[in-house]
Amino acid sequence: MDWNSFVGHDRQRTWFRNAIQNNRLASTFLMVGPDGIGKRTFARLIAKTMLCTGSDPSAFAPCSRCEACAQIDASTHPDLIEVARRPDKTGLIMEQLVGEGDRRMREGLCYELRMKPYSGRRKIAVVDDADTIAEEGANSLLKTLEEPPPGSLIFLISTSVQRQLPTIRSRCQMARFQPLSADNLTQLILRHGLAENSENARSLAAQAGGSMATVANWTNEELKSFRSELFHQLIQRPLDFTKLAKAVQGNMESVGTDSQPRRERLKVILDFALQFYRAGMEAKLNAQSATSDNRSHLSQYGHLVSLHSDAFVSAIQRCMEAREHLDRMVSPASLIEAWAADLAVISRA
Ligand SMILES: [Zn+2]
Repeated sequence: MDWNSFVGHDRQRTWFRNAIQNNRLASTFLMVGPDGIGKRTFARLIAKTMLCTGSDPSAFAPCSRCEACAQIDASTHPDLIEVARRPDKTGLIMEQLVGEGDRRMREGLCYELRMKPYSGRRKIAVVDDADTIAEEGANSLLKTLEEPPPGSLIFLISTSVQRQLPTIRSRCQMARFQPLSADNLTQLILRHGLAENSENARSLAAQAGGSMATVANWTNEELKSFRSELFHQLIQRPLDFTKLAKAVQGNMESVGTDSQPRRERLKVILDFALQFYRAGMEAKLNAQSATSDNRSHLSQYGHLVSLHSDAFVSAIQRCMEAREHLDRMVSPASLIEAWAADLAVISRA
């Protein structure tokens, strides 16, 4: 991966290039933006730019030929420390930051950052899922954020400023990332072979809200038949909320008994419903326009949804609210029931 093949975020690129060239790069960044738009890749590219031995950082063009570049691409560079939430955990755990038991302060991210850089240059940390650091873990990070080891760089990857504790927020320079443009997303979809032709790629990009994470869910074979079933139920009048809740609950439970994967799956399902209502509203707005050429699968569904504009807005809000509550760890089963019941009421209006 290099800057030539990296797609989008031109403004941030220019900003970081200027900061590096003028030698005024802060040491701790909070990279904020939706999932699946390239924030982590961006941070890794900055790391590559700073650690490449074949070109100066100010050139902002890592060579991709030296050993350091190869090690960054393979995630084996000794001066690049990467942590992310473990799949079975609800958040980053303290042990990942400051070490476990009697190894406390002798391993983990904060310890590794203080070690002498092998390359003689600097240590760089990329902390993914920074939204999920609990208060105890955040407190253990504060000292490192406040007095970062000389020359070190820390990137915290986050989806929302609100989800960061004020103590963390105040110690970081903010870098905001926007969803990808439809053109950029189309380019990525084609590059990853996720659509057969450019028309399909454009149609998929139009419904993915600027995120490759959403594209991945829409193109996931396993989820396809469930999505059709979900849409079929959402179209029904009256909406059978018991049946809807049961189907959603069943699909959520199909991923296993661990709570975190279940939450992730429910998030995907709620996003499907959200996109469904958004497409419905769009179809309604475009209904008079004879030139509308949005032929996406979702919009065809959208045309089948007969709701007032106000009801669309309410349904969209209700799906977003459910997603928010899910992040705040409300019991998924009761959340599904309440959400389905409210959608039934909304669709009656
Ligand atoms: Zn290099």
